[in-house]
Amino acid sequence: MIRTLTLAASLCLGVASAQEAEPSWSVVIHGGAGVIERGALDAQTEAAYRAAMNDAAVAAGEILAAGGSALDAVEAVIRVLEDDPKFNAGRGAVFTSEGRNELDASIMRASDRQAGAVSSVTTVRHPISLARAVMEDSPHVMLSGAGAESFAAEQGLEQVDNVYFFTERRWASMARAAIRMGLPVPPRPEGAPQAEPVNEGALDLMEREHAFGTVGVVARDQSGEIVAGTSTGGTTAKRWGRVGDSPIIGAGTYAEPGCGISATGTGEYFIRLNIAARICTYFETGMSADEALDAVIMDELTGLGGDGGVIMIADGAPLWRFNTAGMYRASLVAGGDPVVAIFGDEE
Ligand code: ASP
Repeated sequence: MIRTLTLAASLCLGVASAQEAEPSWSVVIHGGAGVIERGALDAQTEAAYRAAMNDAAVAAGEILAAGGSALDAVEAVIRVLEDDPKFNAGRGAVFTSEGRNELDASIMRASDRQAGAVSSVTTVRHPISLARAVMEDSPHVMLSGAGAESFAAEQGLEQVDNVYFFTERRWASMARAAIRMGLPVPPRPEGAPQAEPVNEGALDLMEREHAFGTVGVVARDQSGEIVAGTSTGGTTAKRWGRVGDSPIIGAGTYAEPGCGISATGTGEYFIRLNIAARICTYFETGMSADEALDAVIMDELTGLGGDGGVIMIADGAPLWRFNTAGMYRASLVAGGDPVVAIFGDEE
């Protein structure tokens, strides 16, 4: 469904560069939302996040400008972010209270509503590629745990020891959380690098940020196809095999013709509200993209007590909305320059 009025309204939000017609391709990216306040990030950290978001948008743009598919663009960019220890996905993911990294990811294509998802994988270097393999090479939509790992092996995807995902600051953050929860701090994983001191101030900040850092990409290619993908380590010190919204189609990731969403935030609320699909449904049934985002994120999510945000492509236009102080984010449309932002008062 082509909604030119909605598109015009969306472009007025200033997220997309001002263009009269739908851009031939577009991409929007998030690196997590949370209490990311101006002045709380030191200049070097802020610059590093901005550079990562900018590079991700440019990399996606190169694929899309060359006529590549939205599916390839989403997978390629998320793989890079999964390798980047700044983000809570792949290497750099948060730890469970048992001291492991358990990773979740999903991907969905709008035109045929094909989708793939994985939860609680511990040895797959790029969970987003496994989610794509589930979509393309299995009869299922969601695989979890040991079964997902054996499917990854059958598919020849790169597997690593769980300790590959280890980072000191995420370990220290989990240890602090375990103590707060009255749980024993698990033994340091075998093969982890020698313990090094971590900046306590940075840990405080990470906790205040809610340790978000989930990554997501929504892209629309030159054929008009929209694909959305999300990858995460979940929440710090999660227990009992907890799975959040990121691998749940409709909650953390959703795509249908004209609409694609990837979410980040307190997953329990995003599951209960079926956030990603809900926004697309509101949009599809008559609200403007802006109204749909406000209704679901600012009213319903906030009303329930949840926090976080989403990125969206509505027809051709990239948008975002979050009820937290900030969200690491970027967008790029054909013929435009990357828009990169962190704090709530930008763009
Ligand atoms: N939504 C993710 C989860 O609940 C976490 C996040 O986005 O930071 O697993």
